[in-house]
Amino acid sequence: MSENDLVVGEPERLWTGAVWSEGPVWLPALRAVRWSDIPNSRILQWSRETGETVVYDPDAEYTNGRTLDLAGQVVQCSHGHRRVERDVDGTVTSIVDAFEGRRLNSPNDVIVASDGAIWFTDPPYGIQESEVEGHAGEQEYGGCYVFRYVEATGELTPVVTDMTRPNGLAFSPDESVLYVANTGAGAGDADYIRAFDVVDGGVANPRDLGDPGTADGFRVDIEGRIWTSWSRGDTGGAAVWAPDGTELARVEVGERTSNVCFGGPDDDELYVTASTSLYRIRTATTPAPRPEPLG
Ligand code: MG
Repeated sequence: MSENDLVVGEPERLWTGAVWSEGPVWLPALRAVRWSDIPNSRILQWSRETGETVVYDPDAEYTNGRTLDLAGQVVQCSHGHRRVERDVDGTVTSIVDAFEGRRLNSPNDVIVASDGAIWFTDPPYGIQESEVEGHAGEQEYGGCYVFRYVEATGELTPVVTDMTRPNGLAFSPDESVLYVANTGAGAGDADYIRAFDVVDGGVANPRDLGDPGTADGFRVDIEGRIWTSWSRGDTGGAAVWAPDGTELARVEVGERTSNVCFGGPDDDELYVTASTSLYRIRTATTPAPRPEPLG
């Protein structure tokens, strides 16, 4: 396959009307994309069957990134509740909200490993004075960590402690590599995607892959390519990188973008949350297969 064949056709705008969209996940059973409109503190859901978008939750306490756990349930980050939580058919319960007795900042993005462990980033965007993306508050444990949480034991382990604004994260298909985006340029640091080797539930050997343009969130396809959001000024889109950071393709949608997810009946559609809108980009790839749901 030629690298230019990774993206099929032009991006389609499926819906618009949000303030800042982020945190998309494809729901196979509903054939729908669920995502957050963070400043409006609501959750939206677009149906691939009808093309309609509904407000799934009008009072969502500033949710952000989300994914599915091994049982296919939605796990999502909540700025307002300063926690990672699970939504089972509209009943939302806390998974983890504190580290060593101190509240988390405002979990931003989350992934679930094949062993069920929940990995998430915890920058402070949801506790800032502006209160645009949450409620003002203190950074109680004094850092912005990437954590690994094991529900069965309640063990919460910091795995990355030296990034200024860890944001999106994803594993390589075999989970031997963890990618984490840093959106630190606005905090006097830099924007980049960093790769780590995953070793015994932690990480080692950090190396920076570069900056596609404020990569906020991303997913990895079955060949290990990184499909990331990018933003520059008032525009943005999606970029495709090889695992070493070599750029393979780039798409522009005309708005700043925040995150992407694969979905659709064949899992080959890339859904992109972009400021006010939800876009779809048809691709010639799919994500790595997930383990079969438990139970
Ligand atoms: Mg994010």
